[in-house]
Amino acid sequence: MKKVPYRIYLPEDRIPRQWHNIRANMKEQHEPFLNPATGEVLKKEDLYPVFCEELVEQEFDTTHEYIDIPDEIVEFYKMYRPSPLVRAYNLEKALNTPAKIYYKFEGNNTSGSHKLNSAVAQVYYAKKQGITKLTTETGAGQWGTALAMAAKYFNMDLTVYMVKSSYYQKPYRKAVMETFGATIIPSPSDTTEAGRAILKQFPDTNGSLGCAISEAVETAFKTENCRYVLGSVLDQVILHQSVIGLEAKAAFEMIDEYPDIIIGCAGGGSNLGGLISPFMKDKLEGKHNPYFIAVEPASCPSLTRGKYAYDFCDTGKMTPLAKMYTLGCDFQPSPNHAGGLRYHGMAPIISKLYHDGYLDEARAVEQTKVFESAVLFSQVETILPAPESAHAVHVAIQEAIKCRESGESKTILFGLTGTGYFDMTAYASFHDGTMTDYIPTDEDLERGFAKLPKV
Ligand SMILES: *Cc1c(COP(=O)(O)O)cnc(C)c1O
Repeated sequence: MKKVPYRIYLPEDRIPRQWHNIRANMKEQHEPFLNPATGEVLKKEDLYPVFCEELVEQEFDTTHEYIDIPDEIVEFYKMYRPSPLVRAYNLEKALNTPAKIYYKFEGNNTSGSHKLNSAVAQVYYAKKQGITKLTTETGAGQWGTALAMAAKYFNMDLTVYMVKSSYYQKPYRKAVMETFGATIIPSPSDTTEAGRAILKQFPDTNGSLGCAISEAVETAFKTENCRYVLGSVLDQVILHQSVIGLEAKAAFEMIDEYPDIIIGCAGGGSNLGGLISPFMKDKLEGKHNPYFIAVEPASCPSLTRGKYAYDFCDTGKMTPLAKMYTLGCDFQPSPNHAGGLRYHGMAPIISKLYHDGYLDEARAVEQTKVFESAVLFSQVETILPAPESAHAVHVAIQEAIKCRESGESKTILFGLTGTGYFDMTAYASFHDGTMTDYIPTDEDLERGFAKLPKV
């Protein structure tokens, strides 16, 4: 039998020309967004002041299974895609496991993560509508960086509200975004009502993703010809990220394999949603039965310990209500190092699939264990993973070790969402032993649940 190559790249004629819309395959749709003021189901028009129209169209699309990727975006993707599907031979050897481990590597662009896949799409549709300015928030900085790259490419103005703790901890992230022409404001700031209100209540706050979202949305609302863009959580983002899963599935077809276990880290749920989309279609249609695992940090356990309820997507309570697994929009996760996984909620699509049992398992893992796996992975596979990605690495290793113990040779696929070069403070604290594992108590979580909106 021919040995599977270390890196499997798709030839040009197999690269995806359409995104896959998993909603068209779902047996039941997730609950609709609600207008927080009236409690009524949100209409497309309600979102036009915030998002550009084509993206609103995609957000509401439950029927088209495939949506054409515009040529301009296909061309942009060619600068860094298709991304490789990698057979982790060295990791298998290091673990002495009979499992076959594959990962889909999304860190091969300057922003260092999968977020560019949706950033370019969102900027493109805004530009097409004649929008000239965009706002967004960024936590760890990956989304802001990806968006800055895409915005500069299409010559759009971009203002990024960056969570204050990251702003000071990650000066190089800010410098990269500035290199691509973006304006960066630490959040909470005094440039918005939402920011001023939070500062008044919590003058020493480090900021949070939810709060930065409030500021960006308010700015989009109040600025002429400006729209807001969001890097995760939304259905449209999972749609764009389906390019990851489509490429992975095509690569598996080339080598005549199919994954038994599919693992992704889950912050807002976009990389996981994109990676699993076409495989989930197979599961929903009864063609294959892969086992899906979402991995989240024990410090921000929205799927494993959250409530499935309507909640605001932001701390400032400006956004529509979404039905999702949530810790409550006031939940302030302790500052852990996987900034991109510190969101209080989870994508409605992922939440629904998990609630209905199609997404088989959510697993919460502790950060020091995650970094042990990150270091092992770096040393044998020579890619230094982002702390977020390392959550998936860790669970892939756990599953491979189970195979060693049971003697089963399962095929494992995980999403390696990005590289960790901007996270060396985190690696340094792991090496010098100052890294801690914070796990919220039930009382901590109750405080967040108590404030869930009554719907
Ligand atoms: C943002 C980010 C994540 C988490 O976001 P999702 O929307 O859950 O995918 C994971 N990995 C990296 C590298 C990120 O930048």
